[in-house]
Amino acid sequence: MTLNNIDQQAAALLSNMKELETNDPAVYAALLGEEDRERNGIELIPSENYTFPEVLSVLGSVFTNKYSEGYPGRRYYGGQTYTDQIENLARDRAKTVFGCDHANVQPLSGSAMNQAVYLGLLTPGDTIMAMDLSHGGHLTHGAPVSHMGSLFNFVRYVTDPVDGSIDFDQVRADALRTKPKMMLCGYTSYPRDIDYAAFKTIADEVGAITMTDASHFGGLVAGRAMANPFDFGFDIVTTTTHKSLRGPRGGMVLCRKPFAKALDKSVFPGLQGGPHMNAVAGIAVTLLKAQTQEFQDYAQQVLVNAKTLSNALMAGGVSLVTGGTDNHMMVLDTMASFGLDGRVAEEVLDRVQITTNKQIIPDDPNPPLRPSGIRVGTPAATTRGMKAQDMEQLASWMIQCLRAPEDEAVIASVRQEVETFCQRFPVPGL
Ligand SMILES: *Cc1c(COP(=O)(O)O)cnc(C)c1O
Repeated sequence: MTLNNIDQQAAALLSNMKELETNDPAVYAALLGEEDRERNGIELIPSENYTFPEVLSVLGSVFTNKYSEGYPGRRYYGGQTYTDQIENLARDRAKTVFGCDHANVQPLSGSAMNQAVYLGLLTPGDTIMAMDLSHGGHLTHGAPVSHMGSLFNFVRYVTDPVDGSIDFDQVRADALRTKPKMMLCGYTSYPRDIDYAAFKTIADEVGAITMTDASHFGGLVAGRAMANPFDFGFDIVTTTTHKSLRGPRGGMVLCRKPFAKALDKSVFPGLQGGPHMNAVAGIAVTLLKAQTQEFQDYAQQVLVNAKTLSNALMAGGVSLVTGGTDNHMMVLDTMASFGLDGRVAEEVLDRVQITTNKQIIPDDPNPPLRPSGIRVGTPAATTRGMKAQDMEQLASWMIQCLRAPEDEAVIASVRQEVETFCQRFPVPGL
């Protein structure tokens, strides 16, 4: 037997795609539609990205066929020579990139990774301090509609309405009063950086475990553009792998040594069965990429682009929550700026192929499906090679459309310009 060479693999891929076209034209048509949508529009949802072509290769590979319950060297099924290789690569690379003692690369998503941490280290009913949801915390940080929200007792901290800062005297007072077992920082919609030292000092005083959910900015930590919580003595960092990190959909739990065993047991067999080894292979590939100068340049550019976009929006009269950004995202108060709720603003921008998402703002008086703002971020646009001057162009299109949401002539002309513009920025892997 010989290994396939690249020509044989190319022929197989083409033949696989032809099978799909012939045998399931409906799914094939949707795939082509999505490819066109990604090619001809500008993706500004801050949690989205375009993954590396190498990741697309392994995601659609035979690694999807394999069951690998357990961990390398300790599996419950045979035939693990190559799955052990890729999982060891992924784990070792994660430790190198994030500078930590241990990594678990099996969580099937960001939500599962956070559940594995809470359930592995705490007892139901324990108190966790986390950011208020309307101020930027994630669903898995104890939203009342989430299972974690009913299992654990979440105590909230909030942000200053003007500059987004956190009042650490208040956090300390609340921590002393409620005695959390865990202090959680991290966010899904907060445009500022985190003061890890301040959280760590309070956590040490009350004996709490420190955890950062870096799902949004994991790639910016990996690319050394943002601070790494482990440098401040944090115990646990979780991150999705598909947002700023540009990998396949998945999650990772990274930790200091004393937590390694309990967290591994919590992911498997505590919470999950077989890991998705095609995604684990993709995580390995991503974490090799993350060690390159090119990736560090990318991470820096994400921040430069966000700063430029936010300045251009504010110069055009748009009101941003906290008055700007220190990271890759910003939240536009479209109600205050244009008298449009977030759902309408999202729809208007959708019509010119600029994709954003409606977003609640701190203490939003409006309901989640008609909130007061939209959330915008630069990781995906930066992956396509867009630079600062392109952000200024983007801001100008967004403002034109949001000022005249019912002016069909404006919408049609911006839409045309966006499509032409997109041709200059190929989508990786397409
Ligand atoms: C995206 C996100 C998650 C959840 O990730 P999924 O893969 O969607 O389950 C968890 N925490 C934060 C902060 C996130 O932004």
